[in-house]
Amino acid sequence: MALIVQKYGGTSVANPERIRNVARRVARYKAMGHQVVVVVSAMSGETNKLIGLAKELMAEPDPRELDMIISTGEQVTIGLTALALIELGIKAKSYTGAQVKILTDDAFTKARILNIDKDKLKADLDAGYVCVVAGFQGEDANGNITTLGRGGSDTTGVALAAALGADECQIYTDVDGVYTTDPRVVPEARRLKSITFEEMLELASQGSKVLQIRSVEFAGKYKVKLRVLSSFEEEGDGTLITFEEEENMEQPIISGIAFNRDEAKITVLGVPDKPGIAYQILGPIADANIDVDMIIQNTGADGTTDFTFTVHKNEMNKALNILRDKVQGHIGAREISGDDKIAKVSVVGVGMRSHVGIASQMFRTLAEEGINIQMISTSEIKIAVVVDEKYLELAVRVLHKAFELEAA
Ligand code: ADP
Ligand code: ASP
Ligand code: MG
Repeated sequence: MALIVQKYGGTSVANPERIRNVARRVARYKAMGHQVVVVVSAMSGETNKLIGLAKELMAEPDPRELDMIISTGEQVTIGLTALALIELGIKAKSYTGAQVKILTDDAFTKARILNIDKDKLKADLDAGYVCVVAGFQGEDANGNITTLGRGGSDTTGVALAAALGADECQIYTDVDGVYTTDPRVVPEARRLKSITFEEMLELASQGSKVLQIRSVEFAGKYKVKLRVLSSFEEEGDGTLITFEEEENMEQPIISGIAFNRDEAKITVLGVPDKPGIAYQILGPIADANIDVDMIIQNTGADGTTDFTFTVHKNEMNKALNILRDKVQGHIGAREISGDDKIAKVSVVGVGMRSHVGIASQMFRTLAEEGINIQMISTSEIKIAVVVDEKYLELAVRVLHKAFELEAA
């Protein structure tokens, strides 16, 4: 007997028939003698619809109230999934995040899980129940409902698997595994049988939405066996996230390409070049809990420096206001501007550690298509570039080909 956490995304619970399918799969696992915890997302499109409703009443909705609204999508699907299971003769109970309870910090709309109370779930599992838990949501220390950021049900799934010491966490979605890049953008993309944890973390952090980055972080920290599978197919091993680099000489240098349309670029021009500038610019941004991704600073011959960084598009205006109100006068910057018509493309692979020339191959491939690179950042196993958003899909396609990632 194993304890398995199965997480089903929005398309997998998009209507009653699909929910019935989910229940049938859970029933098969129960029949094999396993204990099953099910985590579900809201029906596909539901979270966007709820955000839209909120925005009709307030352009930048109050975050506490927004979480109150957008957490409701998952409350519907847990109840429906439990009903579908009960109809099949399976004992099942649904739980909201607060009922479990999944304790988070109070960073509304992007809260982090601090603790999970597993006793109630364990008792239910031992009594033969399937526990159906709402993804994406938790509760802070004051009893406020919080949400975990878009795609956060993955994190609920993996965090529950870690807390319960599950044998496996299965992420069921609308593709049958992790591909060399998003198969919706490059139809020639190839499914990977396995991918190292480090590569998956890098792909997720660079925008591959197949897994939310925090879910991969949890899997790494607690060594959760994590697999991505299709909820529309009965067979198939999907993609396993591995913790050991296989001793495989055939291991490709590049495993995958990620991209992200969600970032915006902020440029602070003509800042006097002296110690403390980076802190004076980014300190207030961090104080406002705005995440910064890429950072570039360039000092010109005239003794002033230009400072560029990227944030989530949703937070560009907030960041610009902070800089204009609190920072510009103080540091004497000439101009502050924002650009949200950018996209980031990243090539990822552990093989980069032992191979040189990947960056130059990437830059040459983009140059041959006339795609201008606006920013570059690298890590040991990743090279990321910012380009004009209109060239994003072209960039991903030509890089996928240049690094020979297509299906054989
Ligand atoms: P769910 O609702 O099940 O959580 P998501 O839409 O969040 O599903 O994630 C699955 C989607 O991720 C796929 O439909 C695919 O378009 C996208 N995706 C992006 N990059 C990849 C990749 N490298 N491999 C597979 N899918 C990817
Ligand atoms: N329903 C949430 C979202 O759309 C969480 C999830 O799907 O993982 O972001
Ligand atoms: Mg998702």
